Amino acid sequence: MPWRNEPDPYKIWVSEIMLQQTRVDQATPYFRNFISLFPTVYDLAKAEQQEVLKAWEGLGYYSRARNLHSAAKRVVEDHDGKLPETYDEIIKLKGIGPYTAAAVTSIAFNKPNAVVDGNVIRVLTRYFGIEEDTRSTKTRNKVQEFADKLIAEDRPGDFNQALMELGSEVCKPSSPDCMNCPVQSGCVASKMAKTDIIPYKSPAKKKPHHVIGVGVIEDENGKLLIALRPEDAMLGGLWEFPGGKQKEGEEIQNTVERELKEELGVEVKAYKELMSLKHTYSHFSITMHAWFCKLISGTPTPNESQEVRWVQRDELERYPFPKANKVLTQRLTGEEQD
Ligand code: SF4
Repeated sequence: MPWRNEPDPYKIWVSEIMLQQTRVDQATPYFRNFISLFPTVYDLAKAEQQEVLKAWEGLGYYSRARNLHSAAKRVVEDHDGKLPETYDEIIKLKGIGPYTAAAVTSIAFNKPNAVVDGNVIRVLTRYFGIEEDTRSTKTRNKVQEFADKLIAEDRPGDFNQALMELGSEVCKPSSPDCMNCPVQSGCVASKMAKTDIIPYKSPAKKKPHHVIGVGVIEDENGKLLIALRPEDAMLGGLWEFPGGKQKEGEEIQNTVERELKEELGVEVKAYKELMSLKHTYSHFSITMHAWFCKLISGTPTPNESQEVRWVQRDELERYPFPKANKVLTQRLTGEEQD
C-alpha cells in the first residue's frame, strides 16, 4: 500500500477517502495517479472539478471526489493549507464522517480516536462474542464503545491499523486463522466455536432494477451530444448520454424519444440500438439500452442537466463519464455509425 508509513496528512486523507468504498487493490493505482496529478492540497484546491472527476473516473461514488475537492479548498482558505488535527474540527469538512475523522486524526496526528470499519466489527464482535445484527446502528455503536475503550493512547494510529489488518489478514470472514491469531486466548467466538455465526448480518433488502433508455444523437458534422449531470444529483458533475427510466408497458425506443424530449426539449427518432449492458450501483441495478437517434426538430437545451455539449468522438476521452456510459463511449470510439 503506497500510503503505508506515509507522514503527509493530505495523502493519508486522500487514501482514506478512496478506501471508504473501494478495495485496496482497486484504490492503489488511482491513489498513485491522483497524487501525481495533485501532489499537495494546494494543487487539489486549485484544480478544476472536471480534472478531479476525470482522475476519479471508474472508482465510483463520485460524491467522494466532489467533497474531497471542496474540502481541499476549505483547508486552503480557512486552515492555511493544514488539515485540522482534532476529530471535532476535521469532521466539519465535507466528506469526512466518523470513520474517516478517526482514521485520519489517529494515523496522521496520533489522536486516540478508534476507527470502526467492517474488519474491526468482525474482530471485535467475535472477540467479545457479540451476536446481535451488525446491520443495526445499536450494534455498531456497541462495537464503537468497545473500540474506544481498547484504543492504545500512546500509538492510536498503529492500534487502528493493526486491528483493521488483523481483520483483513487473520480474522477473515470465512475460515479465520484462529491458531495463528495473537488474541486467540481471549476470543469468545473461537472458544465457543461460533466464528461461523459471528458476526451476524441480517439479509440485505433486494435491490430494485431499472431499465434505462439513452440516446446517442449525432449532428451533420459527426459530433455527439452529451449532457453534464446536475451538481447535487447522484454522479453529479459527470457527463452522460441523455436518457432515463422506462415506464411500464413502454417500448424502449419510445422511452428514449420521450426522455430526450423531456430532458432536451427536442423531437428525435430512435432508429437503431447501439448496445445494451447491465450495471450495478450500491442501491439498485440497471439494464441500459443505448440507441442512435436522429434529431427531427428543436435545439437541445439542458432542461435537466447543467449543460449540453456537442463533441467529436475522439474528444469523448477528455470527459469524465460514469462506468456504464464509459462502456458506451468506448464502443462509440471503436465503432463507426452506419
Ligand atoms: Fe478472529 Fe479467531 Fe482471532 Fe478470534 S481468535 S479474533 S475469531 S481470528
